[in-house]
Amino acid sequence: KLVTFEGIDGSGKSTMLSRLQKVDESEPLSCSGSVFTREPTKETLTGKAVYAAIENNVDPLAELFLFLADHAAHLSDTVLPALENGKLVVSDRYSDSRCAYQGATLNGTISDAFNFVCRLHEPWTRKPDLTFLFDIRPEVSCERCKDRGAQTKFERVDFLKEVTANFKKLAEREPDRFVILNAEAAPEENEKIILEKIRAILK
Ligand code: C5P
Repeated sequence: KLVTFEGIDGSGKSTMLSRLQKVDESEPLSCSGSVFTREPTKETLTGKAVYAAIENNVDPLAELFLFLADHAAHLSDTVLPALENGKLVVSDRYSDSRCAYQGATLNGTISDAFNFVCRLHEPWTRKPDLTFLFDIRPEVSCERCKDRGAQTKFERVDFLKEVTANFKKLAEREPDRFVILNAEAAPEENEKIILEKIRAILK
């Protein structure tokens, strides 16, 4: 099964992924094993290209295609082989991040950018079985990102508001796939919900 974590920067996705990984080490979630991964990937050719593009203000359409290339590589190198072996795959960001973020960066450049980006994935991606949307007010997430130090051009309240609206649109379209978490609540509470839902789909 494929589980994804989505949400804006500073919503706690990566922290939760580490927590889940720790739980899995002591009490395996899946009898076939689990793979914890992320997009954009890191230390790969395509992942490095994505991070270089983010840092160098590359044209937003070019940036979208780099993100897509990274998704394609991530699918074939990591996600699909693990799923074929019956493993649980948990990914910190996945295709919904592109619809939400690049739907926003391309808004105004391409007509109906949000649907354009979503449609670009449809013929070839593997849809997640379950997606947790870490919902947080952009003002709160921006404060968290400031504290963290590493800020990117995306971490601005008005931009993150648009991204949040796009994530909500995705969740409304597929209410059976999405679980919306209050990312301002205690991580223990969300961890409990996440574990329950993952165990339910693995039964
Ligand atoms: O997930 P991570 O924080 O490493 O993502 C790196 C940066 O890329 C973040 O600032 C995030 O907002 C941005 N991003 C993006 N489009 C995506 C995924 C991430 O602009 N599809």
